[in-house]
Amino acid sequence: MTKKVLVLPGDGIGPEIMAAAQQVLEAVIAKQGLAIELDHALVGGAAIDAEGAPVSDATIAKAKAADAILLGAVGGYKWDGLEMAKRPEKGLLRLRADLDLFSNLRPAILYPQLAEASTLKPEVVSGLDILIVRELTSGIYFGQPRGIRVNEQGEREGFNTACYTESQIRRIAKSAFEAAMQRNKKLCSVDKANVLEATVLWREVVSDLAKDYPEVELSHMYVDNAAMQLVRAPKQFDVMVTGNMFGDILSDCAAMLTGSIGMLPSASLNAEGLGMYEPIHGSAPDIAGKDVANPLATILSVAMMLRYSLKEEAAAKQIEQAVSKVLDQGYRTSDIQQSGCQLLGTKAMGEAVVAAL
Ligand code: NAD
Repeated sequence: MTKKVLVLPGDGIGPEIMAAAQQVLEAVIAKQGLAIELDHALVGGAAIDAEGAPVSDATIAKAKAADAILLGAVGGYKWDGLEMAKRPEKGLLRLRADLDLFSNLRPAILYPQLAEASTLKPEVVSGLDILIVRELTSGIYFGQPRGIRVNEQGEREGFNTACYTESQIRRIAKSAFEAAMQRNKKLCSVDKANVLEATVLWREVVSDLAKDYPEVELSHMYVDNAAMQLVRAPKQFDVMVTGNMFGDILSDCAAMLTGSIGMLPSASLNAEGLGMYEPIHGSAPDIAGKDVANPLATILSVAMMLRYSLKEEAAAKQIEQAVSKVLDQGYRTSDIQQSGCQLLGTKAMGEAVVAAL
C-alpha cells in the first residue's frame, strides 16, 4: 500500500533545507522502488500569510491522514510582533497537540569526522551517542492557567503552569525505557524534584515503571546538574528522559556537543506510531535565503522517518551512510568550520548526499 508523507517546509531556511531533503528522499524512493507519495502544505508564517492561521484545519486533517510528516522550521522576524496565540510557533504546537505527538526522540550523535568541530575537546565528545527523550505535549509549555495579568498590588505579572499527570509521565517514561532496551540499557531521568512538585511526581512514576524494566539501569539527576554533566562528561549518558522545557534546553546543549545544531534530526511520535520529523533547529532567519544553511539535520530526519514511521530500515541506513560519506569527502556547510574542508551551500550539500547514495 502506498504510504503518504506530508511535507511542511515552513519559514526562513525551512524551504531551502526541505528542498534538499526532498531531493534525497525522492532519490531513495526511486533507488529502492518504495511506494511513498508526497503531499505539501503550509505551516507557520507562510500559512499565516496565505491562510490566516499558523496551521489550517485542512492541513491538520491532511496531517492526520498521513503516515508521516516532514517539517522544516517555523518563525521569523516578520511575525515576531503578533500576539502569542497567532504566532507561527503556534502552528507547530497545534500539530504536536492535535496529533498527540508526545514522545520526542532527539539523538545527539557525533560523527567522528566532526570531532574537531565541537567546541569541546575531541576526547570528551568522540564516540558520543546520546538519545534525549523529551515529553512534547504537556508540561509548562501547555499548562493552564497562563498569561499576563495585573496582580493585587497593581503590578503586571507573567505566569505559567508546570503540570504533569501520572499518565502523561508514565507514557513518556515507557517510551524512554523501550528506547533504552534497544540501546545500552541505561536511562537517566532528569527533573528538579528538590524544588518542583510536578517533578516529585515525575520521579515517583518513573521509579515505579522501572520495575517493569529490570534490565535497565535507572538513575535520576537534577536538571542543573544534568546541564553541567552534559558539558563535563557527556559520554556517561545513554538515554535521557525529561519534561518538555528541560528537554528543549538540554537537547540544544547536546546539539552543540556534536559540532553544530545543523546536524541533529528529531522524531515526534504518538502512541500509534504516526510521527512528525524535523531538524531540532529553528528557521534561522539570520541566514534565510542565502543558500548557506546546513540541510543535514533535515536529511537525517528523513532517515528517522523511514525507520520509525515507514518501516524502511534499509532506506534509512542508506541515507545515514550517504551523509557519513559526504563528511568523509570533506564537504561542510558554513556552520561547521574545519580546516582543509570544502564549503558547500545548502543546495550543493543536498546534491552531494544524493550523489553519495
Ligand atoms: P535557530 O535554531 O533558528 O537559530 C539559532 C542559530 O543557529 C542561528 O545563528 C542560526 O543561523 C543557526 N542555525 C540554525 N539552524 C541552522 C542550520 N541548519 N544551518 C546553519 N546554521 C543554523 O533559533 P533562534 O534563532 O532562536 O530562532 C529563530 C526562529 O526560529 C524563531 O522564530 C523561533 O521561534 C523559531 N524556532 C522554530 C523552531 C521549529 O520550527 N521547530 C525551533 C526553534 C526556534
